[in-house]
Amino acid sequence: MKFGTKTIHAGISPDPSTGAIMTPIFQTSTYVQSAPGVHQGYEYGRTQNPTRDALQNNLAALENAKYGVCFASGLAATDTLIRTLSPGDEIVCGSDLYGGTYRLFTKGFEKYGLKFHFIDMTDASVVADYVNDNTKMIWVETPSNPMLNIIDIAAVAKIANAKGITFVVDNTFASPYIQNPIDQGADVVVHSVTKYLGGHSDTIMGAICLNDEELHTQLKFLQNAVGAVPAPMDCFLALRGIKTLHIRLQRHCENAERIARFLADHPMVSKVNWPGFESHPNHEIAKRQMRAYGGMVSFSLKVDTLEAGVKVMSATKLFSLAESLGGVESLIGHPATMTHASIPLEERIKTGVVDSLIRLSVGIEDGDDLIADLEQALAVLS
Ligand SMILES: *Cc1c(COP(=O)(O)O)cnc(C)c1O
Repeated sequence: MKFGTKTIHAGISPDPSTGAIMTPIFQTSTYVQSAPGVHQGYEYGRTQNPTRDALQNNLAALENAKYGVCFASGLAATDTLIRTLSPGDEIVCGSDLYGGTYRLFTKGFEKYGLKFHFIDMTDASVVADYVNDNTKMIWVETPSNPMLNIIDIAAVAKIANAKGITFVVDNTFASPYIQNPIDQGADVVVHSVTKYLGGHSDTIMGAICLNDEELHTQLKFLQNAVGAVPAPMDCFLALRGIKTLHIRLQRHCENAERIARFLADHPMVSKVNWPGFESHPNHEIAKRQMRAYGGMVSFSLKVDTLEAGVKVMSATKLFSLAESLGGVESLIGHPATMTHASIPLEERIKTGVVDSLIRLSVGIEDGDDLIADLEQALAVLS
């Protein structure tokens, strides 16, 4: 089955009791047993839910994985995955992870004896220098936020697989429409379903996709034991969102490319970060591992001040000033004062998050209108 058919059909079958083509919202906390221990595979809502099952199977199919496991948020998925580790274990991670992931690792898990190494992986060979006998996991985000750095998934997989280290890719920014890390050697894919998969800015959810049976059993145990499960209604919304994933992503990518090229030619713009440019430092890797270049673009201004950035962001009318990404509507954000405000200035500048850096989550509106909006917003600088 090809991707555009899987989004609509994979893991989903008409409801056996009514024929309803849409997976019903099984809004129930428990299931009646005909005798003690005799049931139809469903006992309690935290443990199993048919709406969640359909979504988990659908997501697994989209990532070419055997198993999907869903959680109440992307961070709940990450939390549950890290709980499979033990004190003393070490994790090698990218240096520009999603801020919430970084916070969970450092503030949530370091105190339990886990050691995280945050390193720049844009040259994948450096990963080997940080791997030792205690290394149990490698954690990568590509493209990264907000600089859209690209990490070579196959190259990191080679290092991880040789040592039997679990290799995790947070595939939120790309979505399975653009890349399938498991096909390139990753062991586990993590998603914030909140973003492109849900796609309509109306649900918070996370997911893990994987092939390994033993790790899947552990995750299913923790999903039930910890209980960070998504609500049935949210599973329904995610299933509905995913049905148009391929169509939405086509337009997200098309609009993002047009906007990246428009910005690159604009006299007020100093630099545009978009992996589709041949001048992007890891363009060749992006070309190899991605089927398209995604809907995210970031750029800095010739006048590199917080004020200039804020001025442009306050002037857009279609791009709404907000955190998050991946919804049908276009969003604009200022990493220096929003997502990256807690990072010390020197460190922030070193990673490229300069004062005027603006991040766009390009939506699926008409591209002409989006470009006109950015044009009039940038005009406030002249
Ligand atoms: C949003 C996001 C998360 C966290 O997901 P939530 O659903 O907000 O908990 C993790 N990773 C990336 C790359 C994200 O963008």
